[in-house]
Amino acid sequence: MKTEQSTNHLMQNYARFPLTLVKGEGVRVWDEQGKSYLDFVAGIAVNALGHAHPAMIDTISKQAATMLHCSNLYHIPQQIELANRLCALSGLGQAFFCNSGAEANEAAIKLARKFFFDQGISRYSVITATQSFHGRTMQTLAATGQDKVKHGFAPLPIGYKHVALNSISALKDAIDEHTAAIMLEPLQGEGGVNHAQNEYLQAVRNLCDEFGILLIFDEIQTGIGRCGSMFAFEQTGVSPDILTIAKGLGGGVPIGAMLATDKVAASLSAGSHGTTFGGNPMSCAVALTVLDVIESESLLVNVQARGAQLKAGLQAIAAKYAIFDEVRGHGLLLGLAANIAVAPIITACREHGLLILGAGPNVLRFLPALNISEAEIEEGLALLNQSLEGLKL
Ligand SMILES: *Cc1c(COP(=O)(O)O)cnc(C)c1O
Repeated sequence: MKTEQSTNHLMQNYARFPLTLVKGEGVRVWDEQGKSYLDFVAGIAVNALGHAHPAMIDTISKQAATMLHCSNLYHIPQQIELANRLCALSGLGQAFFCNSGAEANEAAIKLARKFFFDQGISRYSVITATQSFHGRTMQTLAATGQDKVKHGFAPLPIGYKHVALNSISALKDAIDEHTAAIMLEPLQGEGGVNHAQNEYLQAVRNLCDEFGILLIFDEIQTGIGRCGSMFAFEQTGVSPDILTIAKGLGGGVPIGAMLATDKVAASLSAGSHGTTFGGNPMSCAVALTVLDVIESESLLVNVQARGAQLKAGLQAIAAKYAIFDEVRGHGLLLGLAANIAVAPIITACREHGLLILGAGPNVLRFLPALNISEAEIEEGLALLNQSLEGLKL
């Protein structure tokens, strides 16, 4: 029996593709029948270095033989080093480590509230954008600007407002005396690969400064080189007070992080927040390796070049088919927007040996590993072209 036919004891909360992946190497993965696929999903922007990168294997093996976990009751050298590296890279002051994106955002929301509580100010609410995605915990789903994520989970936590992205007047109208933070993705991932414009983000930063509101950037998908700079915010001219990252940070090993300025981070005092697994020696050692390889293999330059190549190829495809509108995104987080549902295209690509993803119902999303080669991008584009030709659109 094929694996996908024996899922009775798994909760059915994922609409999984009829495919079981058992092995990967670089940007190639294999199913249990031995068929290979070019992987432009990378575990949803997680496998930053592709599959089975030698440096990852080495670090994981060595760390497994040394120490996996010891608890945050003790000092952890790898955690200290990772905090130093991420702070140097981001310009922020302090880091907190957790295990996922939602946990990083949950921590960011808690920190924003605690920051004002510590000053005796009643500010607790967070403004986010419509079509945003911030996670699936109760607070982060309340923060998420998409109804489908909230459906069935009422009563929802209070203190969240959603405004249209790129409308500074809508944001101004939403701010009130209880607004603690504005949380934005510099480039929306799940919501459709939607750009926050630089002028908008600069105006948001000014509003935050004017009203003493904290600016949180959710870079869980865009961070760690994905957009061609270590963090997407570097391309916006705007720095946040709090930054959350996760997906690519561990290259496949679960880890999330919240970074903040020294001033704001001071509110996360001893005993105020914590996690059992967060920042363990294994996940931090692996994240350090991801950062090392991004540097030693010049992957930011690769993301810029391969991103430009992929974008040009997608633009050529968009020009050829009336169903496609525009290509959006930065680096290797690209979206091809369509005026039809894209699910059949994703299926056709899979049948042709190319794994891609949607971002909402009408956008194809491309997120290959940061170290993908020129030839592999060409191959992916050729497979996409073949798949589209077969669909007779
Ligand atoms: C994936 C994602 C999250 C949630 O991360 P999890 O690890 O799934 O909890 C939050 N924000 C953004 C922008 C994401 O892309």
